[in-house]
Amino acid sequence: MTTSARTIAFIGLGIMGAPMAANLVRAGYAVTGYDLAGSQADKLAADGGHAAGSIAEAVADAEIVITMLPADPQVEAAVFGDGGILAHAAPGTLLIDMSSVTPRIAVRIARAAGEAGLRALDAPVSGGEAGAIEGVLSIMAGGTPEDFEAAKPVLSAMGTTVVHVGPAGSGQTVKVANQLIVAVNIQACAEAVVFLEKSGVDLPAALDVINGGLAGSTVLTRKRANFTSRDFAPGFRLDLHHKDMGNLLAAAREVGAPVPSGAMVSEFITALRNAGDGGLDHSALLRNLDRINGKALLCRR
Ligand code: NAD
Repeated sequence: MTTSARTIAFIGLGIMGAPMAANLVRAGYAVTGYDLAGSQADKLAADGGHAAGSIAEAVADAEIVITMLPADPQVEAAVFGDGGILAHAAPGTLLIDMSSVTPRIAVRIARAAGEAGLRALDAPVSGGEAGAIEGVLSIMAGGTPEDFEAAKPVLSAMGTTVVHVGPAGSGQTVKVANQLIVAVNIQACAEAVVFLEKSGVDLPAALDVINGGLAGSTVLTRKRANFTSRDFAPGFRLDLHHKDMGNLLAAAREVGAPVPSGAMVSEFITALRNAGDGGLDHSALLRNLDRINGKALLCRR
């Protein structure tokens, strides 16, 4: 594969993968998509890409294979399975896993890819569905500098902040740190909103002034309306953030790094899932607080 690779297989065309693949088509790449839900690949074909009926078919002529799948088990199946990428991609192919998975899986993929004569990057993203549609994702990549340089034009068609953060697994390590900050920030903002409401202050004025100072954050800006209106339509589902917090706790344990706030918010997310809220946006962390405040749950799903 050269730095001018033009042929891409895209495996996993869901909320994130579909618009990311569409942006690659728009940038002039020949993109062949595969998803367990066949209708997703048909949509890509209607947008100028090609639909494949299997991973083997998708990767047959690909110089780059991108995966955007839910979690470790699906990525493992797509990469290591009998009909999977390692069994069918040509030597020299660059595999870029953009799913959010454990750093341990990323390292395992890189090692196995090397043994099979392929190359691999882990390149998870931040920015949500809107960022994927607009092509403005933050992309944190782990792997060799050479493979990163080869992948950079492709990654830049999907994101505006594209950064090499270290060897294999590093992208996923940075991603779980990202998810720690987002989760704890949401929890703190939700506690502040409920406290301010109970105190009877002018809530919009309070949030304006808070967001203009050191406590201001992208989370407060983007999730403010969810908190104040109790509208928790996703967005980023609590189920996915639960998976990410599990990845964080596993990765932190491996290096012996305590993440006490992360562990606590992870438990709050588990409680929400047990209450049937896993499909709501992660700003629904506020619902735990409404519950323990004895407040009627007003959320609109
Ligand atoms: P999604 O569930 O919408 O999409 C996943 C797609 O993978 C589905 O279309 C599913 O049919 C397909 N799939 C599952 N197993 C498959 C297999 N073995 N072979 C082929 N296709 C398969 O999920 P998403 O929101 O697009 O998220 C994808 C990844 O991106 C996750 O790891 C998530 O944590 C991460 N992420 C999501 C967001 C977000 O806002 N949604 C933001 C950043 C990162």
